Amino acid sequence: FDAASRTFHSLRPNVSLPLPDRPLSFLAYVLSLLPCPLPSHPALVDAATGHAISFADLLSRVRSLAAALRSRIGLAKGHVVFILAPAGLDVPALYLALLSIGAVISAANPASTPAEIAHLVSLSDPRIAFATSDSAGKLPRCVATVLLDSPRFRSLFDGDGEEVVEEEVEQSNVAVIQYSSGTTGMVKAAALSHRNFIAMVAGFHATRKPKAEVFLLGAPLFHSMGFFFLLKALALGETTVVMGGRGGVKQMLQAAERYRVTAMTAAPPVVVAMAKWPEPLDLEALEHITCGGAPLPEASAVRFMRRFPRVEIRQGYGSTEGGGISRMICKEECRRVRSAGRLSHNVEAMLVDNATGERLSIGQTGELWVRSPFVMLGYVGNEQANAITFDANGWLKTGDLCYFDEDGFLHVVGRLKELIKYKAYQVPPAELEHLLQCLPGIADAAVVPYPDEEAGQIPMALVVPQPGSNLSEIEIMDLIAKQVAPYKKIRKVVFTNYIPKTPSGKILRAALRNHAVFNSLSR
Ligand code: AMP
Repeated sequence: FDAASRTFHSLRPNVSLPLPDRPLSFLAYVLSLLPCPLPSHPALVDAATGHAISFADLLSRVRSLAAALRSRIGLAKGHVVFILAPAGLDVPALYLALLSIGAVISAANPASTPAEIAHLVSLSDPRIAFATSDSAGKLPRCVATVLLDSPRFRSLFDGDGEEVVEEEVEQSNVAVIQYSSGTTGMVKAAALSHRNFIAMVAGFHATRKPKAEVFLLGAPLFHSMGFFFLLKALALGETTVVMGGRGGVKQMLQAAERYRVTAMTAAPPVVVAMAKWPEPLDLEALEHITCGGAPLPEASAVRFMRRFPRVEIRQGYGSTEGGGISRMICKEECRRVRSAGRLSHNVEAMLVDNATGERLSIGQTGELWVRSPFVMLGYVGNEQANAITFDANGWLKTGDLCYFDEDGFLHVVGRLKELIKYKAYQVPPAELEHLLQCLPGIADAAVVPYPDEEAGQIPMALVVPQPGSNLSEIEIMDLIAKQVAPYKKIRKVVFTNYIPKTPSGKILRAALRNHAVFNSLSR
């Protein structure tokens, strides 16, 4: 902590990064880290089918695909490509090929509804989409689509890739557009550069162990965490067992046993479930779990550590917009179960009092602002949101309430922003409020997080019914469920007489959250 500037600096040694003006794609950087000759163990294993692919095969497929995407599909640097697909081994190959030609990856949750997808497409304005035949029907008709399960897509791997002329990708070019509501209500398109990911991978590479991990990737590939950890594992020459959000905890644990995984990512609900799994588990090979995306309840962490004393839970905290802000990297750090780790390499932070704008010190709670080479370029086409999210000196406002303890551990204690995290998935309340307000029989509504042991939080609606309306709680939940992806469903409804608001009409969320817990507004 630098008392003069009131800035917190990472305790980790700074990791040196490639010079920023040197042209370098994220993929080229990942490849430069791989050992020569390439590792002989598989690069990817599909947990659902058992299908495995070597590093050499993967790279040759990526080269052929990259050439065909250019010559046969007409893709070029800067073109946005929308992807709507469950995880499998084609998706990583497609990601890598797109990165190599400088096209922009924009992947969305295939469980989204057609209306949700139409909205995302309007934000990122893709040139083309890749989707499976199951999901393609959800895309707006105007988007040209290639089916991932079609002979046409398979034929894109046939070329030898020889003719590829590497297009110069600048590190500052956009690599990925990810959808996030950030600190302000509705979903937005966050643009992340090749350099953002280069900088993040560099830190993991600097602290890697000599023996390559067998790494189970639980997070979905369309989410910032799944996308990053996939590329990180490739760069470190690890074998990645791809679950990618498919299947439940049971399938994940079966894959962990079958492939003798040594490391895995898991959202807090998975750690909670593992801690009290009713059957015996053979996880002898497992050394550590990377857990983040939402808070991990302390009691669950302790329970897990009692059951699996050899397994480290490496908690981390980050966001789509700010990348991996803090994490734990060793056994000693993992003992601090109430924290979210220490600041990652090359990250600076400040804690700011939301009311006074004053910069705070060790032990004081305020909004966390961060500055690092991981921080996104900004939201595409939304200067208003950018102005709210960044300060004039480039600090990213996370919308999270945090403090640092004396040993430099970050504690995330709450959220200022309007965001519900259901099993670490983002549920923006403003979106659900809008849908509720459009339902006949509802005069006003607000959506707030409600604590839930399994999911962390569930979306709860406070509803003011119109006089004479006899809509029931269940009917409201059903009507909304038809319009949103399953993880966004409203899972609890409480009727109330009024929604507390500021004089300008903004919902008083902090007040409602208390009411939500105690149900004191319920009629
Ligand atoms: P996303 O952009 O979907 O990764 O969501 C980022 C948000 O998730 C953060 O701003 C936090 O509100 C929350 N979050 C992520 N990691 C943690 C953590 N370890 N503890 C508490 N909240 C977290």
